[in-house]
Amino acid sequence: MTAPFSGGCVCGAIRYECTAEPVLVAHCCCTDCQRTSGAQMSTNVLVPAPAFRITAGATASYDTRGDSGNFVTRHFCARCGSNLYSMPQGMGTLAVIKAGTLDDSSWLQPGMSIYTDSAPRWAVLPDGIPKFPKMPPM
Ligand SMILES: [Zn+2]
Ligand SMILES: [Zn+2]
Repeated sequence: MTAPFSGGCVCGAIRYECTAEPVLVAHCCCTDCQRTSGAQMSTNVLVPAPAFRITAGATASYDTRGDSGNFVTRHFCARCGSNLYSMPQGMGTLAVIKAGTLDDSSWLQPGMSIYTDSAPRWAVLPDGIPKFPKMPPM
C-alpha cells in the first residue's frame, strides 16, 4: 500500500488522509521528538502539506521552536493526547506525520536517522540507512 493512506489518534476522534507519497521517512532522535513520542525517537513521515487533510475531528496544537530558530506547530488530539503531526515553518510546505498514527505503516521505508547526537545511549538505530548527527542538508 502507498498513497492514499489514512490514520488517526488512538481514541478515534481525529482522522486524517494523505493523497501523496511521502517525500521522506526519517527516524528523528531530537529531544522534542523523544518527549512527544515518549520513546528513543519518532518516526516521521514527511508529505506535501496540500495532500494532507483532517477528515474527522479537530486537533489542538502548540508551538515549539526548533534549533533552526523556526517554530514547529504540533497537532495532537485533545481528548486522548495522541501526537499526530506537525507543521514546521521554514521547511516549505511539508506536513510531518507521526508514523505510529498511520492505519498501516508496514509499507514505509525509513531513509535516514537524524539528530542522532541527541539519541540516548541505549537507543537502537537501524543499520543500512544514513545517520546524521543533526538535521541533514535539505
Ligand atoms: Zn484521540
Ligand atoms: Zn525530532
